[in-house]
Amino acid sequence: MKISVFPAILIFLLFADQAPATESKIDETKTFIFHSILEGLYEDGVSTEDVEQILLRRDDEEYFHFIYSCPVCTASIWAFEAYRHRPEKLHAVKSGDSTFGWGLEKKIRDGLHSDDVKQRLTAINTLIGRWIDRRMDSLRLTEDERAELAEKLEERREYGLGMLNTFRRQTKDKEGPGVAYYAPAYVGQENWECASCNATVGQPMKFGDEK
Ligand SMILES: [Zn+2]
Repeated sequence: MKISVFPAILIFLLFADQAPATESKIDETKTFIFHSILEGLYEDGVSTEDVEQILLRRDDEEYFHFIYSCPVCTASIWAFEAYRHRPEKLHAVKSGDSTFGWGLEKKIRDGLHSDDVKQRLTAINTLIGRWIDRRMDSLRLTEDERAELAEKLEERREYGLGMLNTFRRQTKDKEGPGVAYYAPAYVGQENWECASCNATVGQPMKFGDEK
């Protein structure tokens, strides 16, 4: 019996252009930040209570600990939101766990739940910095690749700090909702830098009063 290859070719042609595209629709520096944080949250087994605290948001304000429209803060929020909405438990795991690790160490938790906003931002900076580092290590980037990524992260950080300064000007000139709405943790603080942005480039939280 003669078997025609024509149907096979036709099927190939029909589906050939439907292969998934590997290029992300989202800026790959942002997706790097997203994956770093989401992975860190799972690996460290961060509690939902701790994530809720990081994602603190009061009525009629943007996220308290982040800067609206900062690329680093935005990608960070995506990861924290995704983790907050994770399934209640991992499928077919008898313990009922919803995450992998054992939870954050006391020092970080105390920082996150402190009444002092400086302590909270410092804790967030420490966590994000740890997770970015961890992912960079696990990807085994070459020195050149690491330097290239660091440069891109620095560009996003500068953009974020620029946005924070834009909101500061808005507040000063009374020309918009300003810091109180777009970056509530930073109200009245002219020299504080962004906790998440600094973390992604390996810098500690800076309040402008460091010696
Ligand atoms: Zn930021």
